[in-house]
Amino acid sequence: MLKIAGERIDILFKLAEESFNAHPERSDRYVEMARNIATKYNIRMPRIWKRRFCKNCYKFLKPGENCQIRLKDSYVTVKCLECGNVVNIPYIREKKDKRRKRIESYVIKKGINE
Ligand SMILES: [Zn+2]
Repeated sequence: MLKIAGERIDILFKLAEESFNAHPERSDRYVEMARNIATKYNIRMPRIWKRRFCKNCYKFLKPGENCQIRLKDSYVTVKCLECGNVVNIPYIREKKDKRRKRIESYVIKKGINE
């Protein structure tokens, strides 16, 4: 059941993305439906969609259309142009993950050679 709920969230966000240009109000409705599913089944928003709606006004956000993304030293700021809400997302952890993966792959390669 949880898997189906997750798939439905995915489908709803894809629909939101597709209909944004022609019918932005439909996109907002899809976001609302996806949020309802997440709440009902107590599942987290998939990482890729988590940043695609405003946590203040809950509108679907499309970078370059109704939201502005800026890179700062250690975080990304996402500004909703619908209500002006700004969210800072640290990305240091992601950088560390990348470094860890590199070290891991190096260790694996070394293991093969020896
Ligand atoms: Zn907003």
